[in-house]
Amino acid sequence: MSAPATPGCRNLPVLRERGQREVFCGLTGIVWLHRRLQDAFFLVVGSRTCAHLIQSAAGVMIFAEPRFGTAILDERDLAGLADANEELDRVVAELLARRPDIRMLFLVGSCPSEVIKLDLRRAAERLGEVHRGVRIVNYSGSGIETTFTEGEDACLAALVPHCPAPTDERPRLLVVGTVADVVEDQFRRLFEAMGIGPVDWLPPRRTDQLPPIGPGTRILAAQPFIAETLRALEARGAALLSAPSPVGRRALAAGSPLPHAHGISPPPGSGRVVAAPAERRAKAVSATRERLEGRRIFFFPTPDSSCPLARFLRDECGIQAVEVGTLPAQGA
Ligand code: SF4
Repeated sequence: MSAPATPGCRNLPVLRERGQREVFCGLTGIVWLHRRLQDAFFLVVGSRTCAHLIQSAAGVMIFAEPRFGTAILDERDLAGLADANEELDRVVAELLARRPDIRMLFLVGSCPSEVIKLDLRRAAERLGEVHRGVRIVNYSGSGIETTFTEGEDACLAALVPHCPAPTDERPRLLVVGTVADVVEDQFRRLFEAMGIGPVDWLPPRRTDQLPPIGPGTRILAAQPFIAETLRALEARGAALLSAPSPVGRRALAAGSPLPHAHGISPPPGSGRVVAAPAERRAKAVSATRERLEGRRIFFFPTPDSSCPLARFLRDECGIQAVEVGTLPAQGA
């Protein structure tokens, strides 16, 4: 879409294009998910291509085996000459014997596992019976079903059935979407200062901290691409707090109704809590604006935050957004 002279984009032409597009598959979400869920392991059931993708995306050596790895489906599996389930059982048994620190194991589906119709849901159930001390969960990160951030969405949605019910009816805030630990700490300090709590996180740092979900849960989306997770949470009675934009001063404005929506009266002076961070943010942005004003930007279609980023760059940095591409799942 062309850049508007005034805020808003309702009167601009929207071009819809169908057909092939070049994006990463959902396996890429493992790169940030494995850093967050510190006692989990992501086992991609895929090919050498899948292994190379996540190893190069994560920038680590193939021998490092941090908190993810690949159970390679080779030519014999793909040709149906070997029983892929038996191979998977063996790989999982070896992995869990070698790594007793793993408390949750994700079996992550890929294009090859889908092509040979390997049923990872049943595999997770079967392996869960054998390895009782480890929760075994499956989701798909395949390039046939998912693009880029949809892998995280699928992973979080798979966690929802494992979240407990709350033990009381207190309203709770749930922040959904992977954030760095330091960001969680900053959020926690702000929420505490505003008198908002209890606050839970999905995904949490550890898998024994899965948040309680129930009718009192109010969802704050930290990422704009969690549609499937939201559906699963809403089916458990949780309600989404609407916010027009996850970045920039619009996000700050969206934060102001949060205490009311959460069912907690804001304590006197709670608006002052965000005043200092907002001032620091405005100062930092204005320094950047001097360098960026008048430039032009083009966004390739992505399933993540191209629209809010474009609004932020246009409204606050004076950049002309020449064209903003999104994928159909995101909307505008
Ligand atoms: S899941 Fe599919 S698209 Fe992704 S790396 Fe593996 S083969 Fe490639």
